[in-house]
Amino acid sequence: MKADNIPYTDIIDDQKDQKSAKKEVLKRATIATHGGPRPSEQAGMLNPPVYRASTVVYPTVEAYKRRHDGYYDDVIYGLYGTKTTFALADAISKLENASDTLITSSGTAANALAAAAFLSAGDHLLAADCVYGTTRKFFETILKRFGVEITYFNPRIGDEIRTEFRRNTRVVFLESPGSQLFEMIDIPVVVEAARAAGAVTLIDNTWATPLYYRPLDHGVDVSIQSGTKYFSGHSDIMLGSISVRSRSHFEQIKDMAGRWGNSASPDDCYLAHRGLRTLDVRMERHQQNALRLIEWFARQPEVARIRYPALKDDPGYDVWRRDYAGASGLFGVELSRMSDHAASAFFDHLSLFGLGSSWGGYESLLVPAWPKPVRVASAVDEDCELIRVHAGLEDPADLIADLEAAFARMRAVTS
Ligand SMILES: *Cc1c(COP(=O)(O)O)cnc(C)c1O
Repeated sequence: MKADNIPYTDIIDDQKDQKSAKKEVLKRATIATHGGPRPSEQAGMLNPPVYRASTVVYPTVEAYKRRHDGYYDDVIYGLYGTKTTFALADAISKLENASDTLITSSGTAANALAAAAFLSAGDHLLAADCVYGTTRKFFETILKRFGVEITYFNPRIGDEIRTEFRRNTRVVFLESPGSQLFEMIDIPVVVEAARAAGAVTLIDNTWATPLYYRPLDHGVDVSIQSGTKYFSGHSDIMLGSISVRSRSHFEQIKDMAGRWGNSASPDDCYLAHRGLRTLDVRMERHQQNALRLIEWFARQPEVARIRYPALKDDPGYDVWRRDYAGASGLFGVELSRMSDHAASAFFDHLSLFGLGSSWGGYESLLVPAWPKPVRVASAVDEDCELIRVHAGLEDPADLIADLEAAFARMRAVTS
């Protein structure tokens, strides 16, 4: 078949088949746009169908007996996903350069299930001190109760990471940049140390998405996304994904998810798949808007510091520049301490910025990072007001007008 006769989605599959071809034929933006089922296999229809299912029936008892107990080999039962789930998993695998991807009901579930899949009582988990709040809560409440030892390391530890390993370290859990303080981890250094210690490395890569950082290409074993955020992009679903390079890791994670009965809704899988199509253009705009807002914040006398690794004077800049292809819309702003009165004046009457958790959608958000980050291995300046900003897709001039009004209200009650 001549190349231009191949339905375009099929080209991506063909590319994946050519394992020997080292060169990346298609760029990530193209993969995000086109990854999915072959239109030629579904009457030419471009998008995956939404299959809702619990029961799957078989034509004969022989076929029923032969059904695989494998998540991916066939649709077996609704809990393990339908063709809609698998279409999304395939598309994400292509984007992550993964052998397999498991879809979960949320990013929280993805982090918990992936970490638990490799741990037993008596094992040691080494986690970055900057991991997302609910991930840390899972470690502290559930994993500790199940007999796992946990220690945290300073995300800026660098080479010293070697001294953090114990004889029983099985898992290293990363998130870069960190939630709230946006520290960058030197991932290749950690990966090398983990490999030497025989530990599995996992990363929550929600901030960068595989468009801007592909952890598996850098030697990380497991790449996790809260699909609730940028994959969906529209603040209307909950979803998670876990991508791996090795079949045996996949089997372990999929068994963990199956035994805990974790499953994502096919409708949500469809929406996340749809979101992937515009991921590249959205990310570009999120990044642009973040930079525009940062420029403005930096000029305000109350702003002590901006936390965003794509800024030249950020301590994480060199690592970000070396390893990442872009930055997203989430950053931190440190203000000099606000009274409760000033905080109310600032946050209570925003007209465009929403005051709410989560991020990665089309809308801009602004929240106080409260309670203060829980850290044991890295210092936090208690004397500042930390604000987490998500730059959405609005016109930045309107966002800046909203911020100008917020600062004016704050100044009026402070002076
Ligand atoms: C939101 C978030 C999660 C949790 O994802 P949900 O889909 O909301 O459960 C995990 N990690 C990071 C970095 C997040 O921002």
